[in-house]
Amino acid sequence: MTKQGFPQAGNNLDPWYHHYAERAAGLRASEVRALFAVASRPEVVSLAGGMPFVSALPQDLVINAMDKVMLEQGAVALQYGSGQGIPLLREQILDVMALEGIRANADDVVVTTGSQHALELVSKLFLDPGDVVLSEGPSYVTAMVIFKSYQAEVEHVPMDEHGMIPEALREHIVRLRAAGKSIKLLYTIPSFHNPAGVTLSWERRVEILQIARENNILVLEDNPYGLLYFDQPAPDAMRSIEEDGVVYLGTFSKTLAPGFRVGWALAPHAIREKLVLANEAAVLSPSSFTQLVISEYLSTADWKGQINTFRGVYQERKNAMLGALEEFLPELTWTNPNGGFYVWVTLPERLDSKAMLPRAVKELVAYTPGTAFFADGDGRQNMRLSFCYPTPDSIRLGVRRLATVIRGELDLVDTFAGTDLLGAVDDKRRFSAPPPNIS
Ligand code: PMP
Repeated sequence: MTKQGFPQAGNNLDPWYHHYAERAAGLRASEVRALFAVASRPEVVSLAGGMPFVSALPQDLVINAMDKVMLEQGAVALQYGSGQGIPLLREQILDVMALEGIRANADDVVVTTGSQHALELVSKLFLDPGDVVLSEGPSYVTAMVIFKSYQAEVEHVPMDEHGMIPEALREHIVRLRAAGKSIKLLYTIPSFHNPAGVTLSWERRVEILQIARENNILVLEDNPYGLLYFDQPAPDAMRSIEEDGVVYLGTFSKTLAPGFRVGWALAPHAIREKLVLANEAAVLSPSSFTQLVISEYLSTADWKGQINTFRGVYQERKNAMLGALEEFLPELTWTNPNGGFYVWVTLPERLDSKAMLPRAVKELVAYTPGTAFFADGDGRQNMRLSFCYPTPDSIRLGVRRLATVIRGELDLVDTFAGTDLLGAVDDKRRFSAPPPNIS
């Protein structure tokens, strides 16, 4: 103990450094966080965050639902509720999931505090230190934070423009099993992937489920964006094909608003019971108030029409982003998402998106470096651009600024390396061949 009665500091900022549980080691602020604080200034065009454009939701719809809930069910709304979620809302969630081919029983739905919380609960139930979670490479950054906080190892399976590559998945499983690893979960975002923007084809959905079944691996299907398609709906959910081996996660964050913090898990019966117990242990019950407001909204508002409105907004923004990339950065490659929020950009080989970010913020544009989406340091040559929040004009401005940054960075690199500027800009293999770490 120090003179003040505090434990000896392990670093000079945190006197409790030596007291943390081992699992807290994974909870580190990312290196780019400080820059994002700067990037939230209004003059910066942020293509970094994944915030839904909630202004496209008419306020009246929410206010009317809130008024009705408080007038008619105020005492219930303000009270603790069931650890599994309100029965009527669980029934209504079945209607939402039916749009993606899922047939289920409301008994198997567990309402959670956003699907983020469902990810946490599933991880808590299944992951021991040293267990392996297979996921696409790249993958959703905050899911990986949770997996690591349960001291699991994330192993990336390469993907291409049709999603996770089944052959690579087989190879990974064989290699990991040979190394004595216990593979607990296959975490996947099959539709309009975050961050890659691609969608797993129907054939691959079937094949990947088959591989998971053969190898006794539980699939965790995370589907926040599935209903936000542009031209073509995504193939039906993986859970529509397989019931016993899939835990499916859904959310109202993107089809309504994230401020409600209401999501859900649809789980095989036995797992569902454990999930409810874990939910109760964590939060007692999800918010009665926001569940009732959403339930009222689903009963009275044209919620499918509202999803169509969101789809239109995001499609226009995606077109603005792809148009600006064609115009200002035609030498790069990028994915062409048919839904969701994100475009995954591949830079010339000799650029490093993480190293370039301070320069970008100085030029008043922000993006998320690809390294954020890999557990193994890969992704320097990539960046995620979000088109969900800025207006089409801002997107265009942001991409134009980004082009200035990238040109400046290339000049700098080439001045030092003395290499041919255009020679290295042909890297299309990122999405068509496995990265070097698996072969
Ligand atoms: N999964 C993915 C892939 C996401 O992109 C997000 C939000 N960005 C979440 C889960 C969590 O969403 P929520 O907790 O708001 O439902």
